[in-house]
Amino acid sequence: MKWGKDLGYEMKPIYLDHNATTPVDPQVLDAMIPYMTEKFGNASSMHSFGREGKVALENSRATIAELLGAETSEIYFTSGGTEADNIALKGVARALKKKRSRVLYSAIEHSAIRQSALALIDEGFITEALPVTKEGYVTEKTLSDALDDNTSLVSIMHSNNEVGVIQDIPALVEVAHSRRTLFHTDAVQSMGKIPVNVDDLGVDLLTISAHKIYGPKGAGVVYARSGVMISPLVHGGSHEKGRRPGTENVAGAVGLAKALELVLARQESEYKRMIELSEKFIKKLRSRIENMSLNGPELVEGELTRVPSTVNLSFDGAEGEPIILSLDIESVAVSSGSACSSGAVEPSPVLLAMGSTPELAKSSIRFSMGKSTTVADIDRVGEILPDVISRIRKMSPQYAEAD
Ligand SMILES: *Cc1c(COP(=O)(O)O)cnc(C)c1O
Repeated sequence: MKWGKDLGYEMKPIYLDHNATTPVDPQVLDAMIPYMTEKFGNASSMHSFGREGKVALENSRATIAELLGAETSEIYFTSGGTEADNIALKGVARALKKKRSRVLYSAIEHSAIRQSALALIDEGFITEALPVTKEGYVTEKTLSDALDDNTSLVSIMHSNNEVGVIQDIPALVEVAHSRRTLFHTDAVQSMGKIPVNVDDLGVDLLTISAHKIYGPKGAGVVYARSGVMISPLVHGGSHEKGRRPGTENVAGAVGLAKALELVLARQESEYKRMIELSEKFIKKLRSRIENMSLNGPELVEGELTRVPSTVNLSFDGAEGEPIILSLDIESVAVSSGSACSSGAVEPSPVLLAMGSTPELAKSSIRFSMGKSTTVADIDRVGEILPDVISRIRKMSPQYAEAD
């Protein structure tokens, strides 16, 4: 890894933003390179160059299908998680519009789902965001009360990118299916972290993305169970059975399959390691920082409550933006769920949906650990952060008053 003057960092940077993206694993890159250079054929061509690409594409599809517990014919390559989410939501809603015209999604979905749902309103669909509990759960009762005979699809993410909360997807699927409603889950943040199997979950559609699992950016998959109708969003050739036309990104598919193999091979050991890191980190900060709260559920032994590598904390009275910038000066990369739109910082819709006040939501920081994260990294951030927070709080008039 390269750091130093060109990055403006004095010391080895600590990257705690794995939920935003991850570096490509060297083994993934090695697997991809031939399909951008000597094996460059168009997978639709009839000659040997084309066949070579086609074989790689179909082998990748088969690998991904097997790892998800799906049939090869149920895997569709996309340009990433965003497109996969769009295809699932809009593609299914449009295909079923004549029969049912209502779509439900959780209030804590990734913007790819939330914005797709808003776009559907303009086409005459009824869309509704399902509320979540303080910890971020969609309850079976919430879903059951919201369902009606006009609902074609429900989209509830498996694990959340901002706070890590893991939904009880099999239970929610049962509720949806009892009303003959299809179920999509965005599992982008679950891959390689917790078990994902389409039959165990029971879902009809599922989204994954390569760059969140040490694969390349611009590659993803939407799984669609056999028989699920989807209207294509874009039109062109017969690639991906016409559901997602466009010359296939063979190198991306190869990279996604390889990345998935690699993260699944170390999933169990990483899960244990992340629990230890997460607990150590939170414990250290709790003993040093007052008025700090964890967003999302606590970890519970033997239960899937939260993806342990995601730690989202609110620091009452300290705004997120200066925290991020102060940590960046210390070579620590973190993020917040807040978005900067036209100069003003907007609080995270996810935290607001979980009942946070706008002020507290704006004071939240997401630490997302990954493969490269060590105990030493966590210790160093645990050392730096209390000073950063107290310095920022001292400059905050609100916090000084409240003191
Ligand atoms: C990153 C992410 C996406 C979007 O995936 P891209 O490949 O970046 O388009 C969708 N859903 C979740 C939960 C994500 O974390």
